[in-house]
Amino acid sequence: MTKIAFFDAKEYDISSFENAGTIGDFEVKFYETKLTEDTVHLADGYDVVCVFVNDTVNAAVIDGLVAGGVKLIALRCAGYNNVDIEYAFGKIHVVRVPAYSPYAVAEHAMALLLTSIRRIHKAYIRTRDFNFSLSNLTGFDLHGKTVGVVGTGKIGRVFIDICRGFGMNVLAYDKFPAKDSNLNYVNLDEIWERSDIISFHCPLTDETKHMVNASTIAKMKKGVVLVNTSRGALIDSEALLDGIKDRKIGAACLDVYEEESDVFFHDFSGHIIEDDTLARLISMPNVIVTSHQAFLTAEALSNIADTTLNNVAQFFAEGVCDNELCYKCAKVGSCPQEHKKLCF
Ligand code: NAD
Repeated sequence: MTKIAFFDAKEYDISSFENAGTIGDFEVKFYETKLTEDTVHLADGYDVVCVFVNDTVNAAVIDGLVAGGVKLIALRCAGYNNVDIEYAFGKIHVVRVPAYSPYAVAEHAMALLLTSIRRIHKAYIRTRDFNFSLSNLTGFDLHGKTVGVVGTGKIGRVFIDICRGFGMNVLAYDKFPAKDSNLNYVNLDEIWERSDIISFHCPLTDETKHMVNASTIAKMKKGVVLVNTSRGALIDSEALLDGIKDRKIGAACLDVYEEESDVFFHDFSGHIIEDDTLARLISMPNVIVTSHQAFLTAEALSNIADTTLNNVAQFFAEGVCDNELCYKCAKVGSCPQEHKKLCF
C-alpha cells in the first residue's frame, strides 16, 4: 500500500482527505508540522510527501526526501513557488493540483474588494457595538470602474466574469495572452496607469516577484485599490506601505503576504507580532488581510483531496502523472506526457 506523509496538515485537510472516496487505498500519516530541513526525516520510509503552500521544498529538503526513499512530492495546491523544481528535476517527481475551484479564489477576491470599498469590515464592528453612525463609511460604485487583471488563467478569467457582472470595464495583462478570448489585453504600463482596481492572478516567478514596487506604484492612479490573492511576493510590502502612507494607494486587499510562511495559518492573538511591516499594514484602516484563505471552500477542499489522491494513484500505476510539474516546460504551461518521460 502506498504510504503518504502529509505535512502542515490542518483539521480541515484531515477531514477532507479522510472523507475522500479512495483514502482507504493508502496508508496515511498527518503531521501538523511543516516540511523543513529539520522535519524532513519524518518522511523517511514514506513513498509520498503531501505538502502545501508554506512547506519548504528546497535543495536540502529534496536531498533529504530522496535519501529517505520518498519518490513523489504531491502538492495539494496549484502554486509551486515553494518547490525548487529545477533541483528536483531528475531526482524526484513533483505533482500538483492545477485547478480545484477557481471560483473559490475569484469569489474571495471580489469579497475582499467589496468589503474594502464598502467599508463592511468597519460597519460590522460598529453595529456589534450598537454604533449606527454612517460617518466615514462612504464607498464607491464598482459599476463603470476600470479593473486591471494581471494573469488571465483559470482564476483570472472567473474574476473577469464576476467583474463584468458588476458592469466594470476590464483590462487584462498576461505574459501568454489567450488567443481565443474576447479580453482587452494591454501592456503592463497601461494596467498600472489606467486601472482603478488591480487584481493579481499570475504565478510568482523571478519575473513577477515585486512587480508592484515603488516605480510601478508611481505609475498608478491616485486611490488605486490593489487586490492580491495570488502570492505575497508579487508585491514589495515596504513599497506598498509607503504607497499607502503617501495616500497614493486607496486600499489594499491581501490574502497573501510575502513573509506569510511564519505567520499565516497560526493563532498569534496572544503574542507580539515580530513582523513590523505586517503589523503596520494591518493597522491601516484601508488594508484588509486574510490569511491565505481564498481557496478555503468545501468544494475546493473536496476537489483538492480527490485530485491529490488520483495524482498519487496514477503516478504509482503508470510511472507518470497528468498533473506532473516538468521543470523544462513548467513556465510555459502543461507538459506533454512524452516530454515528461523523456526529460525526467
Ligand atoms: P493559471 O495557471 O490557470 O493562470 C495563471 C496565468 O498567469 C496564466 O494565464 C499565465 O499565462 C499567466 N502568467 C504567467 N506568467 C505571467 C507573467 N509573468 N505575467 C503575467 N501573467 C503571467 O493559474 P490559476 O489557477 O489561475 O492561479 C493563479 C495564481 O493564483 C496561482 O499562481 C497561485 O499563486 C494563486 N492561488 C492562490 C490561492 C489562494 O488561496 N490565495 C489559491 C489558488 C491559487
